[in-house]
Amino acid sequence: RKSVLAQWVNRTTASKDGKLVELAANIGKLEDVQKALDNGAEGIGLFRTEFLYMGRSQLPTEDEQFNSYKYVLEKMEGKPVVIRTLDIGGDKELPYMDLPKESNPFLGQRALRLCLDRPDLFRTQLRALLRASRYGNLKIMFPMIAVLDELLEAKRILQEEKQKLAAEGVELAERIEVGMMIEVPAAAISAHVFAKEVDFFSIGTNDLIQYTMAADRMNETVSYLYQPCHPSILLLIRMVIDAAKQEGKWVGMCGEMAGDETAIPLLLGMGLYEFSMSAGSILPARELIARLSQSEWSGLAEQALTMHGQQEIQAFVQNNKKGEQ
Ligand code: PEP
Ligand code: MG
Repeated sequence: RKSVLAQWVNRTTASKDGKLVELAANIGKLEDVQKALDNGAEGIGLFRTEFLYMGRSQLPTEDEQFNSYKYVLEKMEGKPVVIRTLDIGGDKELPYMDLPKESNPFLGQRALRLCLDRPDLFRTQLRALLRASRYGNLKIMFPMIAVLDELLEAKRILQEEKQKLAAEGVELAERIEVGMMIEVPAAAISAHVFAKEVDFFSIGTNDLIQYTMAADRMNETVSYLYQPCHPSILLLIRMVIDAAKQEGKWVGMCGEMAGDETAIPLLLGMGLYEFSMSAGSILPARELIARLSQSEWSGLAEQALTMHGQQEIQAFVQNNKKGEQ
């Protein structure tokens, strides 16, 4: 199968009826970039920057971060690279930061919430990102946003750092897209409001499912509730895509669901543009999408959205996929 898939490495990703989409890789360390390229990634859809902060005894400096971001951007040679600002908290701890213990860390001061409370930490990362921007096609993404004020504050701080750097004579990329993750149900429901304020969305289904179902994504005993193809999740995803389209913005997905072969036909049908996944899933996804008709799946996804449960939807997808082998 591996050798059969190799022919897909240097191709663009298009559906049977010619709709172009983008298959990107999720990365968490610098070594992952080569793996992404070897697997035909058309970009990096999610760079989890936590690794820069973890497994060490103090915060990474601006220069250390700058070098890592520059490395990824250069290696991707102008392909889009979405770098997510720090998403610490939840299950990821930084012992040296001495953060207060929380009884519900996944509902606590996680990700951007912490960054807005610790602007020193946030500004250092933003400066490193901005300085690296001229080495490739950087897109900056904020995680865990629930309400508009969080986004506006993050954008305000970014703008300030941009102006400071410009005043210092630092060369920046002409254009840097700014987007946000949609992983809190409130943000999905308010997507029409957020869509006016960003260049793109990336749907983080790992958290969106956990928060929508109120089921800890790490807890085996409630894993039966972890249902990517539940109609409630699909309806939220469609809302997000429609809201973005209305404003002419693109939508990606960087949760595990983006590489799920049962979900892909539905996501393609709903008009998702960028699918970001672990490198190993890219070639199978490209081969699958080439067998699917986007316009046909647009209708089939509408039908799926009227169904009552994940099982029914999964069976429906499997049946309709068969016809396209
Ligand atoms: C997500 O929540 O879907 C996501 C991609 O972010 P993480 O898995 O890092 O929380
Ligand atoms: Mg997440």
